[in-house]
Amino acid sequence: MHIDYIAQRYQGEFGAAQLINDIFKLAIERGASDIHIEPQHKQLIVRCRLDGLLQPIGQFPLAISSKLITKLKLMGQLDIAEQRLPQDGRMQIQIAQSKRDCRISSCPTITGEKLVVRLLPDTTNYTQLDQLGLRQDQLALLQQLLQVPQGLILVTGPTGSGKTATLYSMLQVLNQPSRNVISIEDPVEITLAGINQVSVNPRAGLAFAQALRAFLRQDPDVIMVGEIRDQETAEIALKAAQTGHLVLSTLHTNTAAQTLTRLVHMGIAPYLIAQCVQCVIAQRLVRTCCQHCHGNNSHHCSHCHDGYRGRTGLFEVLPIDQTIQQHLLNHATTTTLEHYQQQHWPTWAAIAQDYVSDGVTTQAEIERVLPHDKPLFSLAR
Ligand SMILES: [Zn+2]
Repeated sequence: MHIDYIAQRYQGEFGAAQLINDIFKLAIERGASDIHIEPQHKQLIVRCRLDGLLQPIGQFPLAISSKLITKLKLMGQLDIAEQRLPQDGRMQIQIAQSKRDCRISSCPTITGEKLVVRLLPDTTNYTQLDQLGLRQDQLALLQQLLQVPQGLILVTGPTGSGKTATLYSMLQVLNQPSRNVISIEDPVEITLAGINQVSVNPRAGLAFAQALRAFLRQDPDVIMVGEIRDQETAEIALKAAQTGHLVLSTLHTNTAAQTLTRLVHMGIAPYLIAQCVQCVIAQRLVRTCCQHCHGNNSHHCSHCHDGYRGRTGLFEVLPIDQTIQQHLLNHATTTTLEHYQQQHWPTWAAIAQDYVSDGVTTQAEIERVLPHDKPLFSLAR
């Protein structure tokens, strides 16, 4: 995966446009999520984030750098005269037949303006719930829970763990003409027909909590809250879930059990958590083995990078059953909850072992992605 610099090819204004086209073409073909344009002391580096990891795709002389950056800033409707402050914007690009929405941001570094272009997911083929990588039993459980008209379903994991894709695929299941579906996001990245999507705007006084309070007066059936960040939002979300609404949201925690204790630490009454939270989904994304070269031990071919191609979700789905409700009322610790989970519900460790033995991914990849704070495989059943 590389763009070769040929001096004649990328010269002048035309050269910058050509180079942008080549970069986007390669990034889209490979399924990259972000493009980094980085002027350094002696050259311009271009990298793409592919399956979660940055990979260099080309180095170019600084001569082309300012033309390239100016052109991209114009495309993203940024102020080209402003080079000392960070900016952000949006743009749409068209390569061959496909159009893609992008977000662009600039950042003044000591060696020049760095640009990052985020390629937003292609809305025309959004991932369905059954294609995320959930195990059959987890998928069945989730489909059942999505039929319940009220309660809170939480998705948890670090940035880049695929939480948004999971939320959107659940929203798609719930997106029916008979339901009023509202989503509050920071900001709305992917537009979905049939859903009332709102971007938060804290500067104008519309943070998650205010938006949520306002939209409860809009006769909603399903509410998606991009992220629960504070006690106020958590409380309104739980009350909404208690009073006949299905609420979907995310929380920034590591594991399913931790999510429950995090809510307690945020100051939410344990009885409310026990009563309203339906289930917690914790997830990570792992790179999957390249099907073209996996098995012939070469771990490298023209279809992949280092033997991997694409990613799949690795999930823990923890429904809040009566025992967990009781544990919450008894102020149980994370460890107690985790212990119960290991005995009754499939954990990452168990599912990861299946993935490795089925050749979906590798042990090294699992160790790279899963949290290291405990010996995962010794806990596996
Ligand atoms: Zn391969």
